[in-house]
Amino acid sequence: MVTLTLDKLREQVRGEVIAPENEGYEQARKVHNAMIDRRPIVVVRPANAGDVIAAVNFAREGHLDLAMRGGGHSVPGLGTCDGVVIDMSSMRGVRVNPEKRTARAEGGATWGDFNAATHAFGLATTGGIISTTGVGGLTLGGGIGYLARGCGLSCDNLVSADVVTADGKFVVASEKANNDLFWAIRGGGGNFGVVTSFEFRVHPVKDIYGGPIFYELKYAKDLLQFYREFIATAPEQMGGFPAFQIAPPLPFIPEKRHGDTFALFVACWAGPVEEGERALKPLHDVAPVFAEHVGAMPYPALNSAFDGLYPPGLQHYWKANFVKELTDDAISAHLEHGAKVPALTSTMHIYPINGAVHRVASDATAFAYRDANFATVIAGMWPDPTHNTANTKWVRDYYDATAPHSEEGGYINFMAEDDQSRIKANYKGNYKRLVEVKKKYDPDNLFHVNQNIKP
Ligand SMILES: Cc1cc2nc3c(=O)[nH]c(=O)nc-3n(C[C@H](O)[C@H](O)[C@H](O)COP(=O)(O)OP(=O)(O)OC[C@H]3O[C@@H](n4cnc5c(N)ncnc54)[C@H](O)[C@@H]3O)c2cc1C
Repeated sequence: MVTLTLDKLREQVRGEVIAPENEGYEQARKVHNAMIDRRPIVVVRPANAGDVIAAVNFAREGHLDLAMRGGGHSVPGLGTCDGVVIDMSSMRGVRVNPEKRTARAEGGATWGDFNAATHAFGLATTGGIISTTGVGGLTLGGGIGYLARGCGLSCDNLVSADVVTADGKFVVASEKANNDLFWAIRGGGGNFGVVTSFEFRVHPVKDIYGGPIFYELKYAKDLLQFYREFIATAPEQMGGFPAFQIAPPLPFIPEKRHGDTFALFVACWAGPVEEGERALKPLHDVAPVFAEHVGAMPYPALNSAFDGLYPPGLQHYWKANFVKELTDDAISAHLEHGAKVPALTSTMHIYPINGAVHRVASDATAFAYRDANFATVIAGMWPDPTHNTANTKWVRDYYDATAPHSEEGGYINFMAEDDQSRIKANYKGNYKRLVEVKKKYDPDNLFHVNQNIKP
């Protein structure tokens, strides 16, 4: 029966339709987090929006679970399911309009695809800190990265989006058209439809001055205390974040210290490159620098500098919180748990989300926490599944210690599968309106494989 219907789907789809018996299925069912093990009935790799419509109709009419996948990075594995998967990685084109200062990315583009295309014109917009993350999931959940203080969140730069809704219709969402949908997709995640194309505002950013700066762990307190003051008033071209990090085997770190834990600051000065050294001076003055790899580089070079640290196939478990004030008590909790980071690929980052992010009203888009100054992520990533218990415990213990010093909500894109109960808190005053938009565009909750807003 399913075979018969799949044949019909194949007739309608120009792209790939991959069922369990087809070559490439094992690869097609994988997502970034190796803990996720789903067996989709079918993975559709669309060639165009028409294919997406066919796949949405197929799932809806067959009463099948439906997941959308952009870059596949969702930590709880929300880019896959045991039903129908629309894997947008077959649609990754990016077209830049340098005159209008906009760039249009297809729904499966990664930030690497996007940055390569816009960099050629000396332009960029806020994307994630590594290049393999999908534009799709990251933007729809908000989008935090190096350029956020100066350019806003990724979703703040969205000009319009082409969306296939649950009824299989194709609509354009912008300030002018389907404004309610446009409001909801800027932070509301993949709850409202499949985005086949994102149109972004882009900004003049070509080369940046920055990179990783390692400090001995004993200076972590100085670094965090300095950071909370510094980032409150630093020029908005200053991006970057403090972290706890085990030293990877990189050539600029003395070999005998590979594997030791350090306090880290990854800096990104996106103002004039010749001002970079001066802009980063406070970071050099706060404590003796143990090792660094700082200088002028193309923005895409920084954006892909850590890709190798996070290859597909690691086990992932993350927790997140928004933070208004990085109090002394919060810093004490970070010092205790950050120092115990258990794996080279695990880390904790405190991203700044002030500056341009604060200039957007809390109810202007679905992303509600415009009054938070930081988004914290405790990112457990480790290669060996036999170490799951210890690594998951590190994330949970760290989270339990910092949560009392944080806001109730956290950034949905950093949240785990056990965070569904925090969704309302994440959207604060915007939740009610999100439910109304969900009722209008997806009353039967076809798009439920996500941090779900129930209609
Ligand atoms: C290594 C790593 C680094 C990260 N760094 C950052 C960072 O710097 N900043 C940041 O903000 N986040 C970051 N994240 C979190 C990231 O934003 C989320 O994991 C996000 O969901 C990834 O998007 P994706 O398209 O790659 O994921 P996917 O797993 O493909 O998709 C996740 C969800 O997004 C939705 N979705 C994706 N594409 C579409 C589409 N075209 N149309 C409709 N819905 C869609 C779907 O609901 C899907 O369930 C990082 C994650 C990882 C694993």
